[in-house]
Amino acid sequence: MSKAKASSPKAAEREHTRTGMSKAALKQDFLDNLFYIQGRFREVAAPHDLYMAAAYTTRDRLLQRWVKSAQAFKTLHARTLCYLSAEFLLGPHLANNLVNLGITGTAQEAGRELDLDFDAILEEEEEPGLGNGGLGRLAACFMDSLSTCQIPAIGYGIRYEFGIFDQAIEDGWQVEKSDTWLRNGNPWEIPRPKIRFPVLYGGHTEQYRDQNGQTRMRWVPSWEIDGVAYDTPILGYGVGNVNLLRLWKAEASESFDFQAFNVGDYYGAVHAKIEAETISKVLYPNDEPEAGKELRLKQQHFFVSCSLQDMIRLHLNTVGPLDTFADKFVAQLNDTHPALSVAELMRLLMDDHAMTWDDAWETTRRTFCYTNHTLLPEALETWSVALFERLLPRHLEIVYEINRHFLDEVRMRFLGDEDHVRRLSLIAEDGERRVRMAHLAVIGSKAVNGVAALHSELVKSTLFKDFYDLWPEKFHNVTNGVTPRRFIVVSNPRLARLISDCCGQDDWIRDLDKVRELESHAESTDLQAQWKAAKLAAKRDLAAWLKQATGVALDPEAMFDVQAKRIHEYKRQHLNALHIVRCYQRLKQGLVRDPVPRAFIFGGKAAPGYFLAKLIIKLINAIADVINNDPEVNGFMRVVFMPDFNVKTGQRLYPAADLSEQISLAGKEASGTGNMKFSMNGALTIGTLDGANVEIRDAVGEENFFLFGMTAEDVHEKQMGGYRPWDYYHGDHELKADIDLINSGLFSHGDTKLFRPLTDNLINHDPFMVLADYRAYIECQHRVSEAYRDQQHWVRMSILNVARMGYFSSDRAIREYARNIWDIEPTPIDL
Ligand SMILES: *Cc1c(COP(=O)(O)O)cnc(C)c1O
Repeated sequence: MSKAKASSPKAAEREHTRTGMSKAALKQDFLDNLFYIQGRFREVAAPHDLYMAAAYTTRDRLLQRWVKSAQAFKTLHARTLCYLSAEFLLGPHLANNLVNLGITGTAQEAGRELDLDFDAILEEEEEPGLGNGGLGRLAACFMDSLSTCQIPAIGYGIRYEFGIFDQAIEDGWQVEKSDTWLRNGNPWEIPRPKIRFPVLYGGHTEQYRDQNGQTRMRWVPSWEIDGVAYDTPILGYGVGNVNLLRLWKAEASESFDFQAFNVGDYYGAVHAKIEAETISKVLYPNDEPEAGKELRLKQQHFFVSCSLQDMIRLHLNTVGPLDTFADKFVAQLNDTHPALSVAELMRLLMDDHAMTWDDAWETTRRTFCYTNHTLLPEALETWSVALFERLLPRHLEIVYEINRHFLDEVRMRFLGDEDHVRRLSLIAEDGERRVRMAHLAVIGSKAVNGVAALHSELVKSTLFKDFYDLWPEKFHNVTNGVTPRRFIVVSNPRLARLISDCCGQDDWIRDLDKVRELESHAESTDLQAQWKAAKLAAKRDLAAWLKQATGVALDPEAMFDVQAKRIHEYKRQHLNALHIVRCYQRLKQGLVRDPVPRAFIFGGKAAPGYFLAKLIIKLINAIADVINNDPEVNGFMRVVFMPDFNVKTGQRLYPAADLSEQISLAGKEASGTGNMKFSMNGALTIGTLDGANVEIRDAVGEENFFLFGMTAEDVHEKQMGGYRPWDYYHGDHELKADIDLINSGLFSHGDTKLFRPLTDNLINHDPFMVLADYRAYIECQHRVSEAYRDQQHWVRMSILNVARMGYFSSDRAIREYARNIWDIEPTPIDL
């Protein structure tokens, strides 16, 4: 951005008022930004110009605090958390920053006086979709909480030019459209062209003697690119602390001399530039089958290498010698995507900074902590040794060396047990040799954690059992959380106002345990009436928006039954679909006397290469088509698939939900965070004992939670005993009738084959035991409907859900990490 700098004292004074928080200052700065940055008068400005001016006006107010924070952290040598994550699913910035600055009301008034449509301006923002789902959103919630909890932190990741694809629904099928979030500019980031690091690939390694006669290794790469920093300030709520989100963009290397490398080959040189830039071009959708993964390994090395070089630079510039690196920094690995860090830090310390193996290893192991996010075997990252060697020959040497040291230790502990050695090795030797990234992360970290109590137990007893036997003290649990700023204050202002009124203060926004005060008002008919009204208003808003987005009209009085999350077999959207088919058949057969009207609402993207997930989307839309157009039932049930579920559209969904579907097969969902967002907004949960559902149920009370289905233990036993879905299909005539109806062609204009891949899979394999949980689910849904009839009781349960969600604030999670894992104290920055 190129605004003139204030130099004279008078200008400095103006500068100060220009970024003041008064309504007058906001109005003036808005008009200035509209004119000087967008080059527009108020009268002719397009909606996007107005948004940009509003964004710059807001950003101007962050910068003061940002600079002050950076200065303070530097002079205090504050211990700093680095959150390394391949994904940050941030959501729109504007409304969130206004809330954290505490100027939403003033900004709305300023907008009114300038005759602006405030909501339309917010709507203009295109979110940075730099993540797939829960994992990336967790990183974003953590960034918000790190700042709010005043923990000095840097988030490191990749500035993908194309984030997660936009989803359109055409003829009931998912169609992927490329995400172009940068097309109209990104007012929240500040490019740092001077913060640039070389990233090396390929080539070979050599031994040499340094000037002290020491034998050392040198990597002679065959190509290199640059990573350039783009910084986004992350402000905490009601504090002066601003942390940094630093995302790396790949560019052709500066030292990569086009002239020398490609004499006279101009087009070749341009091609090299394009090649370099592909590295940060696109986010990989997860759940993809093996294919074209080489770029992903390049991406991982790219952001890990830039981030660690940046940390080393910061350390050398402030604290000094690298033997204190692990005192200054602690780095959290968000899943194994940044696990190369372990090898890369070893390389940088030894090869570039002449540290010995032992010192480098000590530093590395004190620096990293690792969060595991999944037990699903297909989601555990491994890289073929051949690919690893071709791209990162020096790292492979280091991995082998780490493995040699480690396995010697294992052999000493388990004398003669080579089976143990084989299981723990960094290299999987069965079939094609592969590097196990999770093992690298565990061995190279001082702490390993799961993301919910059940998940952390399963991590210890199954996935990492051998490691747990070796180092029990290394294993922790930190149950995930979500930020109440975005997921209550920003997205559900009516509920936020109600909570503040009821509690007599708004401290709950920074200390969510304080919402427990609602409990003592749960019986108040006054509160209940207001509670119901707030929910109804949110449902009306959502219904209006869905009508315009999909053409489907919903009755706001109907129960809004919502399942919004990535589409995956383990999350079992098809179980939900079977229940809808059951409701439909019962209505058609006149089996229900006085139905409770429901709106079944779905949202979620399927990975582009995940055929069954895409077929599930088609099935939901096909069922919707029939039901919504059948006048015999459509007064009682409607089905709608909301296209393009992301943070922004999600914010419309959570406040409007009555029922939250959290129905994964027990043992498969590590934590879930959608479950927390819904419950915080007063939806009741129908769910299995999976992930954080277990803890949510404990917190809100079993009488305020609709539990069904097998436990993780039941699932394990059933799998051991040989699960036969066929028996369930033939043993339950309603289940059979539902599956048969799908196969009949009713939902596919007579095509009896369309859904066969899905139904055949259920009947013959059913890897996620949909059929085994079907009956329990249908019965539980019946209890839900009966409960909904008693609105007073339902509202009371809803109030108690919100009142007891304090634990699920990401602030609590961050405080646990800071205390139990990172050993970091808050560094408050005054306002
Ligand atoms: C919270 C969130 C998720 C995670 O939902 P789960 O139900 O925990 O899988 C995924 N995508 C978006 C856009 C979210 O906001």
